[in-house]
Amino acid sequence: MSIWIIEKQCDGCKLCTQVCPYEGIEITDGIAKVTERCTSCGACIDICKNKAIDSDITQREIPDFSAYTGIWVFIEHNNIELTGVSLELLGKAQELAKDLNEQVSAVLIGKDVTKFCNTLTKFGAQNIYFAEHDLLEQYRTIAYTNVIESLVKKYKPSILLIGATTLGRDLAPRVSRHVKTGLTADCTDLKIDSDERILLQTRPAFGGNVMATIVNKYSRPQMATIRPGVMEKIKQNFFTNSNIIKFKPELHEKNILTRVLEIIKEKKSGIDITKANVIVAGGRGINGRQGFDMLKQLADLLGGELACTRLVVEQGILPQQAQVGQTGKTVRPEIYIACGISGAIQHRAGMMGSRYIIAINNDPDAPIFKVANWSIIGDVNEIVPEMIKQLSKGGTP
Ligand SMILES: Cc1cc2nc3c(=O)[nH]c(=O)nc-3n(C[C@H](O)[C@H](O)[C@H](O)COP(=O)(O)OP(=O)(O)OC[C@H]3O[C@@H](n4cnc5c(N)ncnc54)[C@H](O)[C@@H]3O)c2cc1C
Repeated sequence: MSIWIIEKQCDGCKLCTQVCPYEGIEITDGIAKVTERCTSCGACIDICKNKAIDSDITQREIPDFSAYTGIWVFIEHNNIELTGVSLELLGKAQELAKDLNEQVSAVLIGKDVTKFCNTLTKFGAQNIYFAEHDLLEQYRTIAYTNVIESLVKKYKPSILLIGATTLGRDLAPRVSRHVKTGLTADCTDLKIDSDERILLQTRPAFGGNVMATIVNKYSRPQMATIRPGVMEKIKQNFFTNSNIIKFKPELHEKNILTRVLEIIKEKKSGIDITKANVIVAGGRGINGRQGFDMLKQLADLLGGELACTRLVVEQGILPQQAQVGQTGKTVRPEIYIACGISGAIQHRAGMMGSRYIIAINNDPDAPIFKVANWSIIGDVNEIVPEMIKQLSKGGTP
């Protein structure tokens, strides 16, 4: 065991048990005892005011990362347009760059992609790492990994951000493995710790029951994927010039191992709640399909879209594309009307960026009220029809 108690110094204050995430320490007969669940994380050592806990854990040395600088954003596109998340991440990167006083760079890879440079400049890319090659026309894991790995090894960014899209979820782990760094997937928030100048990467953990903030102290770059829609897209702004750094990839078809035979576009159901300005969302408090017909009426009157919680999708009432939350879509409408929704953390994770949240619930203690701008305590079956009535008259409910 590498952690032990100096019993004569322990006063049984319980601080160590409170800080231990694993129940690795307990108080027996007024004295702390290390249990077999201890993982030697050392949290108890730091908190003990009597210095009654000791260990033989040696502090790992933090390498010198002074050569690593700048925040990079991998730019995803489909050869015709850039994905929204790339531009959202350029905005977030600028915020982080301000705190670090470093530069923001875009990593643009593909075939005939010069056309995107102008947009990237307008969205704040001070540098564009640019790699064009015939073999990069379609995304293929090995080819893209190879190029990013070479760029990272040559230019040493401090932070590398990638959208948590289908492509990003394939690419990011592969890159992180190749450049021997950690990766925090599916982040919902990114900040800079100004003392340590390190990236704080927040994401839901333990089935979404806690938000964990993860740091990467021992390797570079600090890599994170971020879900589309989580970060706010900045308005095209200031920059008129980017420094373009051209990179000539060395690629050979025989080394890429995969070929794209055909691209089949996914059939969309027509619902795209991520673009809606007004969303009327329903949860288990809504009475089946009939209840959702009522919400649809309200959504139509407001020019909005219908959305829901996961339980509603599981009941087969609305399709998965309408689900808001951690395992659904992230939305940022001007108005989000939550009807009969309790406001579980997994649901809130997808709608907290809404400008105004109106919640209707008959339980005054429902967690949704903690995040609502307007709280209506009452029965949706009375309140929603009244809103529809007022709106149909042309009035404001
Ligand atoms: C790993 C994981 C991922 C998840 N991902 C998601 C996700 O992406 N999105 C998501 O939504 N959930 C997700 N969940 C599920 C989530 O934890 C909640 O179970 C779910 O959001 C609750 O849905 P709800 O609010 O519809 O139902 P409930 O929690 O049952 O709430 C129903 C609410 O309706 C109110 N109500 C009932 N009748 C009325 C009435 N007549 N008038 C007014 N109010 C009424 C009740 O007071 C209650 O607050 C996830 C869970 C896990 C474990």
